[in-house]
Formats: sequence, C-alpha cells, structure tokens
Amino acid sequence: MNDRKRVVVITGGSMGIGRAIAMRFAEERPLIQIIHYDRDDSASASTLQMLSRKGVEAESHRVDVSIYQDVERLFANILSKYGQIHVLVNNAGIIRDALFMRMTEDDWDTVIRVNLKSVFNCTHAVLRDMVKKREGRIVSISSVVGQMGNPGQANYAASKAGIMGFTKTIAREVAGRGITVNAVAPGFINTEMTKPIPEKVRKAFLGQIPMGMMGEPEDVAETVYWLCSDAARYITGQVIHVNGGLLM
Ligand code: NAP
Repeated sequence: MNDRKRVVVITGGSMGIGRAIAMRFAEERPLIQIIHYDRDDSASASTLQMLSRKGVEAESHRVDVSIYQDVERLFANILSKYGQIHVLVNNAGIIRDALFMRMTEDDWDTVIRVNLKSVFNCTHAVLRDMVKKREGRIVSISSVVGQMGNPGQANYAASKAGIMGFTKTIAREVAGRGITVNAVAPGFINTEMTKPIPEKVRKAFLGQIPMGMMGEPEDVAETVYWLCSDAARYITGQVIHVNGGLLM
C-alpha cells in the first residue's frame, strides 16, 4: 500500500469479528469508521479506545444498517468529510434461530434485512464513488452455513447465501473499474454470537471440524485484511472460507 491514509468503513465494528478487523487494519494507521446499532455504546467505546491506543483515528456511528435512508445519509457524510471510502467491510449480522416450522415471518424478515439488505444498502451507498475514483475494496462477511445449511437457521443461511451471489455479481459488474468484491465465510468463531450455544451443541459442532477447535475473530480478520491489501489485487468474486476444515 502507498502512504495515503485509507478510509475504512466496518459495519458491526463494535465487537467480535468486526472489532478484530478494525484492529487488524490499525497497523496501517487508517481512518476507521465503525457502524453499530445497539443503544448501549460501551462495546464501540472500547473498540475506539483500543484503536486510539494504537494511534488510530476512528469514529463510531450508531446506525441501523438495514435502513436505506440512514445508511445513505451516513455514507454521504463520511464521503463529504473525508473525500473517499477506500474499503467497505460488510460485517454486521444477527441470528434469530428457530426450526423452520416455528420460524416467524418477523424472524425471517429481520435477519434478511440486517444481514442481506444491509449489504445492498452499504454497497449502494459507496459503489458510485468507488467507480468514479476507480478504486475500492469491498469484503462482506458470509458464513459457511450459507453453503452447507444448518437446521434452525433457514433465515440466516439464506441471508449468507445471498451475500455469496451478490458478491459474485457486483464483482463482475465492477471488475474493470479497479474495485474488488469478495466474501469471507467463517465457520464456528468464538464471539458473543456463538456464546449462547449450549455445551452439547458446541461439542457436536466441534466434532465436525477437522481441526477440532473454534476459530478466533483474528483468523477472519487476517483474511479480510489480506483481501484488502495489494497482495490480493487480482482476487475478485471469491468466497474465502475460514473454518478449520469444516467445509472442503
Ligand atoms: P457479534 O459479536 O454479535 O457482532 C455483531 C456486530 O454487528 C455488532 O457490532 C453489532 O453491533 C452489529 N450489528 C448488529 N445489528 C446491526 C444493525 N442492525 N446495524 C448495525 N450494526 C449491527 O457477531 P460476530 O460473531 O462478530 O459476527 C460478525 C459477522 O460474522 C456477522 O455477519 C456474522 O453473521 C458473521 N459470522 C459469524 C460467525 C461466528 O461463528 N461468530 C460465523 C460465521 C459468520 P450492535 O450490537 O451495537 O448493534
């Protein structure tokens, strides 16, 4: 990378995988913009503090990424303040698990809105400017479940499979404009999202992973960072799996 300060927007950057991504980028001293939604700002405040200790300029915004107008407004503000967004990481995501026959319409709609429509919203808000500038990196966090399926996660699996199709399509549309568009599909990663999983289910999951352990947020962050580096300049439209061998 040359010496410019890249502007990096990370949705769901307040904790878990998003925070690890922010910390991985911190080493190049970019300008980081974190988006999260929960009313409680303590997680994003800790991330900002961790970044500041590394000498990184960062801001956090409390915006629901599933709402088009709010995302459009936020990205327009970032663009007018800093002139360019070099990297967009679509990482925000939630689960609302239930076996399909018990899954409500609200479970379905909420997960599709937060996990998939948000990717449309954020990408839409940034792509025109990236095309104009003829540079940009977009990485969206999918999931192994989007490819394998998982009982109780019809909504989540559909949202994550949607990200894969979206990624390949946008990658084709802008490949000639200096923009790469990729997805990272984590397996079973140690974050707040996977904390509530009962011990019995956790053991069963681990039994399916050839490496026999969960991944850490940093494992995913490293892959995202690499996709946004010069080393990956010729990689686009790919789904990179980070799952300890769970899916081969
Ligand atoms: P996490 O610890 O629960 O963090 C989720 C992040 O998303 C938080 O920063 C949260 O911020 C933000 N978020 C949720 N809803 C939002 C909304 N409507 N608008 C803006 N931000 C929102 O989850 P994680 O495990 O790090 O997961 C990160 C991504 O990786 C997700 O897309 C997830 O599906 C994917 N993934 C995770 C795993 C895993 O095993 N952990 C595996 C595969 C894929 P607030 O709480 O402040 O809203």
